[in-house]
Amino acid sequence: MPGFEIFGDEERKEVQDVLDTGVLFRYGFDQARKGNWKAKTFETELAERMDVRHCHLCSSGTAALSIALAACGVGAGDEVIIPPFTFVATMEAVLHAGAIPVFAEIDETLCLNPEAVDPAITSRTKAVLPVHMCGSMARIDEIKDLCERKGLILIEDACQSFGATFKGKGLGSFGQMGCFSFDPVKTITCGEGGAIITDNDQLYRTADAYADHGHDHIGNDRGLEDHLFLGNNYRISELNAAVGLAQLRKLDFILEKQRAHKQVLKEALGNTPEITFREIPDENGDSATFLSFFLPNKSRARQVAKDLARAGVDGCFYWFDNKWHYIRQWDHLKELKTPARPFARLLDHCPDYWSVKLPESDRIMSRTISMLIKVSWTHEDLSERIKKIISVL
Ligand SMILES: *Cc1c(COP(=O)(O)O)cnc(C)c1O
Repeated sequence: MPGFEIFGDEERKEVQDVLDTGVLFRYGFDQARKGNWKAKTFETELAERMDVRHCHLCSSGTAALSIALAACGVGAGDEVIIPPFTFVATMEAVLHAGAIPVFAEIDETLCLNPEAVDPAITSRTKAVLPVHMCGSMARIDEIKDLCERKGLILIEDACQSFGATFKGKGLGSFGQMGCFSFDPVKTITCGEGGAIITDNDQLYRTADAYADHGHDHIGNDRGLEDHLFLGNNYRISELNAAVGLAQLRKLDFILEKQRAHKQVLKEALGNTPEITFREIPDENGDSATFLSFFLPNKSRARQVAKDLARAGVDGCFYWFDNKWHYIRQWDHLKELKTPARPFARLLDHCPDYWSVKLPESDRIMSRTISMLIKVSWTHEDLSERIKKIISVL
């Protein structure tokens, strides 16, 4: 996830355009901004790239999730099926919407297992929110089919898989809405930022207004614009959007480098008897931000993760022990620990997350290690790295 690796003159130029006008706000100031519409331009280029009708840029990936849930009408008491392997933001966004995260097992794609979704559906289920983890994809065609059959909303969290595709179609464009993040460790970054994409005109209008206090964005006097409903402030600034725009134009370069580097690593490790690779439903669409693989069991995986760190192989993640990406370590969720009373507490069927059992996800995650793929590696860096990894294994 290396946007930060290639920050350069292109980003500086876009930011300078904004600084030269002093207009840091994405709306209005038509004269003063001298034709600079960084957020708008980013949205147009991103929608084109994803082959969807609309994109709305916002302040973070977490904001994108909140906007998507609100726009899709997911609210108080609705259940949303999510995987237990994701960044905490996914379940936080669902809870803060007043909705209830319901966890279903992942499979060896490291993403939501479509077969586990069906049994998790209840009369309260409103949406399914798969997360395309670590640069690659869920079996999104099967999940989409299921949602259509059951009349459920599909929202994709593609924050970690920007630029990845399934059978040529961009991740994030399968459901009613897709969410991206451009935070500092994502494929492209603008410091802090996010986006939603959608093909649905009405959902877009709702999202666009919700992210800006309900503004309908009609006319050229902000004070006289109508409020469609109560909203929030999830706006991005022109400075952040400017950086993002330059980064977006580097996406193909980033993907090409990552894929080439991943290929070399994968070939070098392919004969290691102890490891098997993560299942990728469409190898050609992998954004290749990570190489993820399985060890035979938990104790061996823990040991290898430690040994890799000791050998100086940086950027390796053992998610099973990580506090932020797997439900096992989310005691704050299990205690529903929030500064103020969460909506879920008002329900007579308030969920008990201590009792959630996900043996299949535990079995998979306890054996998984992911390695970050960098854009800036040289041939020497790569062979050094391979030597170290082989010695550990
Ligand atoms: C990064 C991330 C988010 C949140 O994005 P931010 O821009 O950091 O708010 C949400 N979901 C997943 C899977 C992520 O990796």
